[in-house]
This record gives sequence, C-alpha cells and structure tokens, in this order.
Amino acid sequence: MGGLNPIRIQSMTTTDTMNTIGTVEQTIRMVESGCEYVRITAPSMKEAENLANIKKELRYRGYNVPLVADIHFTPNAAEAAARIVEKVRVNPGNYADKKRFENIEYTHLAYQAELERIYKKFSPLVKICKEYGTAMRIGTNHGSLSDRIMSQYGDTPKGMVESAMEFIRICEDLNYYNLVISMKSSNTQVMVQAYRLLVETMVKEGMNYPLHLGVTEAGDGEDGRIKSAVGIGTLLEDGLGDTIRVSLTEDPEFEAPVAKAMADRYSKRFLLNETERPSINIQDLPYDPYSYTRRITLPVQHIGGHHHPVVMLDVSGKNLKDPYFLGEVGYKYSSMLDKYNMADQACDLVYLGDSLPSFSFPGNLQQVYTYNTWLALKDKTNCHPLLALEDFAAKEVKDHVLNLISVNAGSYRMEDLFLLDRTAVLVLETSAVHGMAEQREFFIALLKNNIQLPVIIKRTYTDISADDLMLYAATDLGALFTDGLGDGVWIAAPESIGLPLVNSTSFGILQATRTRISKTEYISCPSCGRTLFDLQETTQLIRSRTDHLKGIKIGIMGCIVNGPGEMADADYGYVGTGPGKITLYRGREVVKKNVNTLSALDELIELIKEDGNWTEVK
Ligand code: SF4
Repeated sequence: MGGLNPIRIQSMTTTDTMNTIGTVEQTIRMVESGCEYVRITAPSMKEAENLANIKKELRYRGYNVPLVADIHFTPNAAEAAARIVEKVRVNPGNYADKKRFENIEYTHLAYQAELERIYKKFSPLVKICKEYGTAMRIGTNHGSLSDRIMSQYGDTPKGMVESAMEFIRICEDLNYYNLVISMKSSNTQVMVQAYRLLVETMVKEGMNYPLHLGVTEAGDGEDGRIKSAVGIGTLLEDGLGDTIRVSLTEDPEFEAPVAKAMADRYSKRFLLNETERPSINIQDLPYDPYSYTRRITLPVQHIGGHHHPVVMLDVSGKNLKDPYFLGEVGYKYSSMLDKYNMADQACDLVYLGDSLPSFSFPGNLQQVYTYNTWLALKDKTNCHPLLALEDFAAKEVKDHVLNLISVNAGSYRMEDLFLLDRTAVLVLETSAVHGMAEQREFFIALLKNNIQLPVIIKRTYTDISADDLMLYAATDLGALFTDGLGDGVWIAAPESIGLPLVNSTSFGILQATRTRISKTEYISCPSCGRTLFDLQETTQLIRSRTDHLKGIKIGIMGCIVNGPGEMADADYGYVGTGPGKITLYRGREVVKKNVNTLSALDELIELIKEDGNWTEVK
C-alpha cells in the first residue's frame, strides 16, 4: 500500500467475530468480490484471540488476505490482535480516553500531562507492532473525538487532524513508521477538508504516510454510493488516497466492487504527462480548500446568487407529444385536472435542442433550445437559448432574461467571457481525461478575474453503465460542489440509462455535497460484529415511513458503543442498546432509553412529531 502501488480495496466483516466459520466464509466472499484487506472487529480480548482461529482457517483454505483488527476502547485487545493479524486499527478518539461529552479547560501543563498519559497507554501497542512487523491505521472519526480534542479544537477538521497527529508523533518517537492514516466523517465536506489538512500538516512535519479514505455511515443503495463517491472521489481527484473502503449498509461483498470501480479510474491517470496535468499550486488558490465557502455569483433569474444549485436535464430525445414523460423528472401530470404536481426532486431546466413540445410545460420549468430554434419561437415565455461563448457577442437578438452560454474549459478565450452581460449563465463542459481538474482551473480563472457569472457544470458520459455513471458523476461534480464551485448540474448520459436515474443522481450529488437538500438523509452504520439488529431491514423500515421528511437527518446505528459518536450531526438517532432494545436520541441527547424494538419506530415518529418536524405524506 502507498507509494506507486495501486489503490488498495478493503472492507469489513459484519459477522460476530466469535463465529469463526461465519467470519471466514464472509471474508472469502469479500475476497472473491475484490477485497484486498479484510477488517474484523475485536471489541474485547476474546474476539482478539479468536482472530488466530479465523486466520488459521483462512490460510488453511488457501486465502492469504491480510487481516486488520478493528479496535475501540480496548488496548489489551489491540495488543493481543497485533501479535496475530497484519494490521490493527485504532481510533485515537477512544483508545486512551472514555468519552464523557465534557468540555474541560486545559492549561498547557495539564494538556502535556494528558499527552504523557496517552503515551503510556499507547506505546506498548506500538512496541508490539514494531516487534511483530504489524502495520497500524490511526483512524480518526469525526463523530468520536476525545473530550480533550473537542475542548481544544472543537468538532473540526483541525481537531480530527490533531487527534491523529498526537498518536503519529508517539509512533515516530518510538521509531515506528508502519502507519496509514484516516480522517472519516459522514459529512463529506468535513471529511475532504480533514484529509487535505492532514496532508498539509504531515508535509510541514516531514511525514508522508499513506491515506485510507472512507465516508462513514454513507447509507445504502444509490444514496450510499453517491455519498461515498463524493467524499472519496474528491480526494482521489486531488491525487490523495492509497486504500479505500466504501461503507454501505449492505452485505460487505457489495462494497468492494463499488470501491474498485472508483479506484480503477485512476489506474490510467499515471500515464498523463506533465503538459496534460493541471499545474495550479495550492498556495495560489483563490479559495480556501480547507473550509467551505460558495463562490460569490450574481444571480440570473433563479440561478446563482443565494439560490440553491439547479438541475438541468436533456429531454430532447423524449416523445414531446406526451406530458407524462415529465413525471420522470419530477412533474407528475394529471389529465383530469390538466395540472402538474411537483415532486421534491423536480428538475429546474430541460434542454430540448431543436425539438418542439406539443403541450404546455409546467410554469416553473425553464425550457432551453438551440439558438435558432429559440429565435423562431413565437411565445418565448420560460424559453431560453443555448449558444456558444464565441457566438454571443455577434448575435443581435438575445434573450433579455437568461442566455445559456456553452464554454469548454479546455478551449476558450478569456476576452470572450468579458463580453458577456448580466443575462449569461455559463454551461461549463470539458473533454479532458482529468475533466474535474480542468473545470476547477476554469473556476480559478473566473475567481482570479472577478467574473461572477453563475456556472452550470456539465459532464457528458458515453458508453457507461448506470452504476459507473452514479460514481463518476458524483466524483466529477461532487468534487467541485464540495469546494463551493458550481450553481447547477447537467449530466448528459446515454439514453439507455433513463432520465429518472440521471435526475436522482443529480439531486443525490447536491444532497451529498450539502448544497441542496431534497430528501431525508439516513446516516446508517455499515454494521459489524457488534450490531444488535438487522441493519438493512431496519433501515428500509425506517426509510419506508420517514423518507418524505425533507431535510431531516436520521442516524441508524447498530450499537451504543460507537453509534452515538459516529452518527455525528444527525437530528435523530436510533441506536441498538441490547438484544431487542433501542435507544432514541434527539441530536446528542438520549430521549428514550431501551425501547422495545417492536415499538421503537413508532416512538421515533412520535418524537419527530413532538418537535414539530413531522409532515404527512402528500
Ligand atoms: S456503530 Fe455499527 S459499525 Fe460501528 S461499531 Fe457499532 S455496530 Fe459496528
């Protein structure tokens, strides 16, 4: 791992670690699906010791996959596991500290004393790893920072970095360098900022440890894939990341193919030569890559300014005699009422090219045509032209409210941009292999030249599967939105993929980058040997009754040990506390303890109702 090795794929078992054969068989399924490292939870000594049986059985069956012990709270389990497996993962937030959610004022001396205490607790493990040639991941989680770090730095990327650095410095002091570092969060912005800051901090201190990338509690299905790709993909686009783990609330053998699809995209990027590589020095960036600020733009109609990013789709290939197809992009037509019902994920603009519909469009859906077709329209209400940047100045007739201007990030003249007026919204395209970086360079040029026109980012994908489309678009567009760049998204995909998926992927990317919330967010843990209920089934059940609660974040966590910390900024939490028992949270506050599983969902809904956050399904 690291250096010029390929990006390694890994995942984690969900079986009980004491179930040797079950864990071995799941590990084998994971290896067959592409996993190169397998992590197994070791919550106490007995599980740590059972790793020897699991490893023996795997080797006996001919599987040499490196095993990683996952440790929280239990140094003695870590020390036992480090003698057995190839790597141990420790969480610096809970290895030497118990979380009490206390804000403590530390003097310099008191803080130093704390560091010495950690040194004493952590150094035996480091020495064992050194002796046995065992690697270690120092895995910080946004949701489980120690009270010491929280008091000093708060719940911030800086705090996450410092949490890891305290442990790395101890390792280096003991001449142990067999490390990999992670900075996970379920908030993609925090996660991206923390990894970038970690790299900057390491570079300053002369360190260059490999990075393990992951978004925690990403959820399942389409949402989980998009959220993972936004976080992991953004960093891979930055050239950061040596091993990745996608955490989905699904069986672990479904995780590796998703991770592999993301990593494989970069196996060819090494072939780019110097002239093909974007060459912006990070010191010269006109925005801060360590915090989120949206690029300031002047609004044009409902695009840019303080408006949330818009979604644009190409419907030119549809049957434009039939208003029902608009249901695929969020506008359900009722022939009885001759009206459209607008869904939460209703797109904002549609591109029709030269095709003319034979029915009236919903009043809030903007239609975009080629320039000549637009020019010939008798009624231009809600209709706008799309024209090339170099053609704009020469056109005598222009739309007086909104002109969409197509510009390729790799071939444009800055002087043409200065000729645009306050009706222009750029549609930014790219044909580069490393398209995100090229589009980012374009934004940097806009910022440096103080051009405040809104930008709809367009990416075109051909010859691609639906699964890869989700991951690639989430990476390419998500990386820009995560940095506050972009006022709209336009994904052009092969017709075979279908408009509903392209529409939901567009909204999913905006949701995952937290730039436009259009649905309920589920922060569900991937489950592991500690899980106290069937996570997949429970997540589906909770989703089936709450997925209309736009903007609410619900954490669904398998255990009380790590769950409350890891559900981070969820508004409500549903956490396993024992067999058949659930504890409900409002933010970080326990509201109902040990509720019977059978009534827990009803009680959660009651709680949401009490807070005035419930709406009935329309
Ligand atoms: S929160 Fe979920 S994945 Fe994390 S330790 Fe608990 S059960 Fe395992």
